[in-house]
Amino acid sequence: MIAVIDRQCSLRAKAEVVRFVEGVGLRVQVSETETESLLAIIGSPPADLADRLEAMPAVQEVRRDSPPYALVSREHRPEPSRVRVGNVQIGGNEIVVIAGPCAVESRDGLLEAARAVVDGGGALLRGGAFKPRTSPYSFQGLGEAGLAMLAEAREITGLAVVTEVVAPEDVELVASYADMLQIGARNMHNYRLLSAVGEQSKPVLLKRGLMATIEELLLAAEYVLSAGNPRLILCERGIRTFERATRNTLDICAVPLLKEATHLPVLVDPSHAAGRRELVPALARAGIAAGADGLIVEMHPDPDRAFSDGRQSLTPAGFKSMMDGLEAISEAMGRKLLRPQS
Ligand code: PEP
Ligand code: MN
Repeated sequence: MIAVIDRQCSLRAKAEVVRFVEGVGLRVQVSETETESLLAIIGSPPADLADRLEAMPAVQEVRRDSPPYALVSREHRPEPSRVRVGNVQIGGNEIVVIAGPCAVESRDGLLEAARAVVDGGGALLRGGAFKPRTSPYSFQGLGEAGLAMLAEAREITGLAVVTEVVAPEDVELVASYADMLQIGARNMHNYRLLSAVGEQSKPVLLKRGLMATIEELLLAAEYVLSAGNPRLILCERGIRTFERATRNTLDICAVPLLKEATHLPVLVDPSHAAGRRELVPALARAGIAAGADGLIVEMHPDPDRAFSDGRQSLTPAGFKSMMDGLEAISEAMGRKLLRPQS
C-alpha cells in the first residue's frame, strides 16, 4: 500500500502520518518526487488502515491496489535506481557487461579470464566460488580459496568482482571479498538467504528462478529491500519450458515487464538461457534491444576444459566479438556500451 502526501505539507503533519503507521506495528519508507512524498507501508496492513489514513488531512490519496512489492515498485519510486558496484554504475545510460568463468577453477585460469574480460571491454568480473550444482558429485567450487583468487584478480586488473553466495551463514564471508553478491536461480526462493543479503550493505544481483513468475521475482526482491539493502539488480536468465533445443527459454518479455514494474536495474544472462555459446551474442543483442541495463555472460579461456558450463561459455575471442556487436545496438537504444579498459 502507498500513501501519497503533498510535498508542501508541513513536516509535522508528515511525521504524524508516519507515527500513526508505525503505531500499528508497520514500517514506512518515504520516497520523494518533485510534487509528492510517497510513503510505502511495509508489512501486512490491517483492513481499516487505508480508510484511517485517508481521513488524515496530510494524506492526499491511498493507493490500495498498489502491488504487494511496494519498495521495488515504480509506483513508490518512479525514477530508475542506479547501483554502484566498485566504480561502475549500473542502471544509468551505460550498458554494463559482467563476464568471466562459471566457476573459479584455479588462480592462473581466473587471471587469464580476468585479463580477457579487460581485453574485450567487460566492466566487471564474474566467477563462482560456491557453486549450487544439480548433482552432488559435480564440482562444488573452491570456497574461500576461490574468493581469495577473485580478490587477487581484482587487485591485478582493477575489475570489481561478482560471486555467488548459496547459504545465509556464508554471507559475511562472501561479502568480505566480493563487490557484489549473486543469488542464483536455485536460491531465488531461499527467503532466509534473501533476508541475509538484505541485512548487509554490498550490492546484490538476484537471478530469476527457473520456474519463477515475474511477481515471485519481484517479491523475492522485496525481501532484500525490506531487510534494509536498496542496492539490488535483477537478472533474467531463462526459464524452464517444454523446449529442449536450448538449455532454458530466455523470457525476453521479462525485460520490459520488469522495467515497467520496478525501478531496479535489469540484466540479462544469455549464457544460462541458451546453454550454447553460438547463441549467446544474438541473445545478448536481444536483451539490450529489449531495454536491459547490461549483461552477465560466461567466458572461459579454454571452455572445452571448463569444470562447469563450458558448452555455453564464450572463448575470449568470442567475447570480444560479441562486445563489438553490442556497440551499434546500444547506440540504437540511445545508450552507450561501457568498455572501461579496452
Ligand atoms: C551461474 O551464474 O553460474 C549460475 C549458477 O547461474 P543460475 O543461478 O542462473 O543458474
Ligand atoms: Mn554457470
